[in-house]
This record gives sequence, structure tokens and C-alpha cells, in this order.
Amino acid sequence: NAKNGGRHTYCVFQPGMGDEVRQRRALEKDMNTALSAGEFELFFQPRMCLASARIVSYEALIRWNHPERGLVSPAEFIPVAEASGQIVPIGKYVLAEALRIASSTITTASISINVSPVQFRDRDFVDDVRRAIETSGVPAGRIELEITENTLIEDDARALAVLTRLKEIGVNIALDDFGVGYSSLSYLSRFPFDCIKIDRSFVSEAQRNYGSLAIIETVVRLGKALKMRVVAEGVEDTEKLCLLAQRGCHEAQGYLIGMPAPTSKLVRSIPEEVSEALDRLKFGGLQVFEAANQKN
Ligand code: C2E
Ligand code: MG
Ligand code: MG
Ligand code: MG
Repeated sequence: NAKNGGRHTYCVFQPGMGDEVRQRRALEKDMNTALSAGEFELFFQPRMCLASARIVSYEALIRWNHPERGLVSPAEFIPVAEASGQIVPIGKYVLAEALRIASSTITTASISINVSPVQFRDRDFVDDVRRAIETSGVPAGRIELEITENTLIEDDARALAVLTRLKEIGVNIALDDFGVGYSSLSYLSRFPFDCIKIDRSFVSEAQRNYGSLAIIETVVRLGKALKMRVVAEGVEDTEKLCLLAQRGCHEAQGYLIGMPAPTSKLVRSIPEEVSEALDRLKFGGLQVFEAANQKN
């Protein structure tokens, strides 16, 4: 266990693996001071409701402004922070900072916060959430926590207990990156999700791969049957947006609608091409579904 072993553990270096191990060690070490040095920052990416064509929430996405390396991607440092246990204090920072911004800058939309499986398993997690809500004064109903399927697999009885306590507090729960983790469909009915986020890999393939489109359609239908909102991730062009809208997907998120941005450059409204495309769709003038319906 990397958390207990820490820096007193010997590391067996495999030939060829040295660089990667050294790199992770260096990141891990730099992370120890990153929080207190104020090197982390939250970006926010909008999520839109397709029926109303309005921004309904923002997802908080962490950024690390490393003094020497520049911007380090969360895809690179979150796994390191999870292995070392540093994700717990980092996750507390994300909670506090996202809710601070939800009470000061983003007051008309909901806020989504990503929760790592390691953070979720921490015994103080529910209390941390409760305290962050109390401190910020943000109504719990405006907050959504995003967890991935991997959070549920290890001890699903405990996961269910934690989710139930979170629901009692009143926060919403989203299942992030749905479809790419180790999960079973029964999770969707056993756990109290408010929202399912379809992984962007299905969305990016939707026009080329009939299977991906079929999965999207099925998840939309499941979401409706289970009374969960369905969000498509990674929407990069209007064709995909229209395809999703026509299939009855509730919400969309992606570079087309808005890039993740610091609060000073927050995306406040949806681009004109998006509202125009949705308008055209309403009038039935757009023929974007042919390619999607062709089997390849
Ligand atoms: P995620 O939660 O699935 O977040 C979506 C990722 O997709 C973000 O990457 C976002 O910038 C990117 N994205 C959004 N729209 C598009 C699009 O249209 N096309 C493409 N190609 N990408 C798009 P980011 O910010 O690099 O974050 C990567 C992952 O790191 C997140 O995936 C999440 O799992 C994790 N992460 C980010 N912030 C946090 C955090 O505060 N706490 C924890 N535990 N994990 C975080
Ligand atoms: Mg997410
Ligand atoms: Mg996601
Ligand atoms: Mg994803």
C-alpha cells in the first residue's frame, strides 16, 4: 500500500521503467507543497439542457499550475495522488473551492464535483461533504457529486451506505464515464443515481459506429425508465448535439458548448451555432442522422 509505505519503501526498478517511476515520484513529492503553495485551481465547464437550450450546471475540473512544468493534466496527477493518498486533502480542497465559487460566482447553476474512489472510501468523506456545505451555505440540491463505476465495485454494500447518507444530506449523485468501467447494469437500479453521464467515447463514435449509437439510445431509455437525467460527455460538434437531442438525451457537455475555463473566463451562455442548430432541429430542417443510421 503506497499510502502506508510512503518514502520508506524500497522500490524495485525494472529496466525501462525507471523514467516513469522517477516521474511519478517527482510529481508525488511536488504535490506535497502544491496545496499550500496555491498551485491548484478549478476550471469550470458548462453543461446544457437540450430542451431549454440553457446552461444548467458547471463541472469543476482541477488544474495544477506547476512552477516548472506548467499546467499538469489531472489525467496525469490524479492517479499519482490516488496511489499516495494525497487525493484526500486535494479532494477536500476541490469541495471547498467549488462550493465557494458556487456561492459567489456561479449562483444560478448547479455545481458538479468529481470524487475519486479513494476519497469516497475515506471514512470522513460524508462528514467532509456536510461540513463543506455548511461552511459555504450552498443548498445541497445545487450540488452534484460525480463518481465512477470503479467506486462501486470493491465494497458495494458500503458504497450503497455512503451514497444513502449523501442522499440524506440532499446532494445529487451522478455516475460519470458510464459504460467504460467495470460495472453491471444492475448498479443503475441498486444505487440512487440522479444522473448518468455517458462516456465521451460513445459520443465521439456515434456517427461512425452503430453500436455506440445503440448504446446511447439504450442509456437514454434506461435513464428515462429509472428517472435519471442522461448527460452526454464530449460533444464537439453540432451534428452530435442534434443527434443526441433527437434521441431524447437530456443534457450535453463538451467543447462545442464550452471549454473548461477559470471563473474569470467562465462560459456564461451557449454559442449561437448551438442554439441555431437546436432551433433548426425543432423545425425539422436538419438532416444529420443519415450517417448515424447507416451500419458500418
Ligand atoms: P471527467 O470527470 O470525465 O471530465 C471530463 C474530461 O473531459 C475533462 O478532462 C474535460 O476537460 C474533458 N472534456 C470535456 N469536454 C470535452 C470534449 O468535448 N472533448 C474532449 N476530447 N474532452 C472533453 P480533464 O479536465 O483533463 O479531466 C480529466 C479527468 O480527471 C476527469 O474526467 C476526472 O476523472 C479527473 N478529474 C478532474 N478534476 C478532478 C477533481 O477535481 N477531482 C477528481 N477526483 N478527479 C478529477
Ligand atoms: Mg466528471
Ligand atoms: Mg466524465
Ligand atoms: Mg469521461
